[in-house]
Amino acid sequence: MSESGEFVSALIDFLAASPTSYHAVATVADRLSAAGFTHMDEQQRWSGVGGKRFLVRGGAVVAWIVPEILTDNVGFRVVGAHTDSPALKLKPKADLWVAGWQQLNMEVYGGPLINSFLDRELGLAGRIVDLDGTEHLVRTGPVMRVSQLAPHLDRSVNDRLTIDRQAELMPSFGLGDEPDIVTLLCDQAGISPAVFAFADVLSYPTEAPAVFGNNGEFLASSRLDDLSSVFPALNALTKLESGPDVAVFAAFDHEEVGSATTSGAQGPLLADTLARIAGGLGATGDAWYAMLARSSCVSSDAAHSVNPNHVGKYDPLSRPMMNQGPVLKVSAQQRYATDASTAALWERACREADVPHQVFVSNNDVPCGSTIGPLTATRLGIPTVDAGIPILSMHSAREMCGTADPEYLSRALTAYWQGA
Ligand code: ZN
Repeated sequence: MSESGEFVSALIDFLAASPTSYHAVATVADRLSAAGFTHMDEQQRWSGVGGKRFLVRGGAVVAWIVPEILTDNVGFRVVGAHTDSPALKLKPKADLWVAGWQQLNMEVYGGPLINSFLDRELGLAGRIVDLDGTEHLVRTGPVMRVSQLAPHLDRSVNDRLTIDRQAELMPSFGLGDEPDIVTLLCDQAGISPAVFAFADVLSYPTEAPAVFGNNGEFLASSRLDDLSSVFPALNALTKLESGPDVAVFAAFDHEEVGSATTSGAQGPLLADTLARIAGGLGATGDAWYAMLARSSCVSSDAAHSVNPNHVGKYDPLSRPMMNQGPVLKVSAQQRYATDASTAALWERACREADVPHQVFVSNNDVPCGSTIGPLTATRLGIPTVDAGIPILSMHSAREMCGTADPEYLSRALTAYWQGA
């Protein structure tokens, strides 16, 4: 198998193991441990911060490598990404019965392309917490589906699909009433329903990722936004030779719902972790602020490839193509954190890694989304650049990317951490 073929098959394994943010973080933690990183308990005082370490908070993970030789000019080089994706989320009271069907009552998490979740076998995955506070990861196989109405019963259905989020999005789960959802999830976790307290459980598309295209140049999967950044960053970090600065990888939860949580990018997770690392290296008070001022951040999140059926939605000159490298994201409104200085940093990293790269800027009539980049930049005052691989069908249950780009991104992140 070619080098990029090996990279894509490792990415496919990672995607398949990571149906939710909680699973993604467990997968990342396993890989970090296997690569010699030490798990740090946030609740304990840290006696050391050097070498390779990581911590986990909910659906977020922060990992770092302190260089073996610390100069007076050491800073942080942070790569940020996110672990969550749009989905349906189980409501607290979820068992529903309609016309002989056993259904599930669910709400919408983030901003999915809702039609892509229809007529698709979905599983349930996430965490359940028992009464003494112990968390259990759970994951079912395909158990449910939201079926569309046939055009025979709604002749206007193809005019413009509109979906009532309460009436039309409830998945069918079985016939009759056994087992109820709590029993099913507790069976998965191996605990008694008597000790069940609450669930953070979401839908996930059960279809396996697949390579396709005229020359096998595309990859289809759920959750490429943003595991197409998480995996390349993880891969780069676990193979990293020590660089000049503290290499930090922060994968946050809850980006799709605004990041304002304890494990999201608007919360204190990254700032507090960096402060603890700096404190452990003796950089407190004025030295801490100087260390921050010597730092930088790459906010890595999926970008928009040009869609050939909708070219009018894109800028006429900056139309990212698949397999032409990671995309630098620019916005005059600072929806992305990139500026000329951080763009130059990114350019250096891509050149150093011998990786092609390209640019996305919005069509003026089509405002773009945002990322964790502006959040980390405003919280910490660290110069930040937004970049990510080009994908299509962003927020669909089945997104697609090019098979060459994830490895390009990983190489560029390696070069960034090594001091580009
Ligand atoms: Zn994203």
